[in-house]
Amino acid sequence: MNKKISCSIWGNIRKKSIYLYETKGLDEALNYIKGLNITPNLRAGLKGEIFFFDRFYSSLKLEALLDSGVKADFTGIQKGEMINFDVTTNINYKNIEDYLELIKKKKKQYSIAIVDLESTDIEIFPLKFPICPKCSNFSHYILYKETPNRDLETYISNSQFIFQFCPNCLIRKEIHHFNNIDQTYLGLIDSLEKELNLNLTDDISRNRFLEIFHNNVKEEVQILEKETGLLISGTAEIGYNTHIGDYVAYLSWVHPLVEDIFDIGELWSLDGWKEIDL
Ligand SMILES: [Zn+2]
Repeated sequence: MNKKISCSIWGNIRKKSIYLYETKGLDEALNYIKGLNITPNLRAGLKGEIFFFDRFYSSLKLEALLDSGVKADFTGIQKGEMINFDVTTNINYKNIEDYLELIKKKKKQYSIAIVDLESTDIEIFPLKFPICPKCSNFSHYILYKETPNRDLETYISNSQFIFQFCPNCLIRKEIHHFNNIDQTYLGLIDSLEKELNLNLTDDISRNRFLEIFHNNVKEEVQILEKETGLLISGTAEIGYNTHIGDYVAYLSWVHPLVEDIFDIGELWSLDGWKEIDL
């Protein structure tokens, strides 16, 4: 990082990039950013902002936020609601806890936009994680697939739940209960393995396989999110753990913004969750 750059200089650089974009267009703004004597990280961040501004300028009626301290780069309107957007090119720099107080105080929606500078793909993640009514931190909706007959060979789940789970005070509350006949995640892994016929002995194939598996889970999650209006933070199912000698819940997928809170593959003893009425 360039230690010399002060907030006011950085503010002026941002202002000028936005001004150039609005008056002379994308190429002029990008040329200006290209010529700046700043670190690669700052340049990438600024480019990301301009790409985002360009992509959603009209559809989200974006305005640049030029004051610091609001944890957002732009404000816009989506479905009649005002939303603040924080743009980044690296999801690892973002911690959802940093937005908690602002969301609670302002009662305003925040979204994080992740810009891939190479492909120029932009993904927007609304920070709509529910607030825990007990400790007021972010809690999470976890989809949990149960296999009540514990016959994992069938790979069939006929009972699914969405729990609100708080990693801070470890409480959980059942929000939805479905009785669908559904394939378990182990079943999905098995059918994908057969379908793709990849040799999973090397890291590249294993990572490729996991990517396909997680994309399949994500599609399922998106359908459920539409149905319920909830933002799902993770999916879990019951599995037999030979070391523990009992059935435990394990996470098969987590939302990209909560990867530092939950680990994929993490095992939860079913007794470890305190069940209370919120
Ligand atoms: Zn809590």
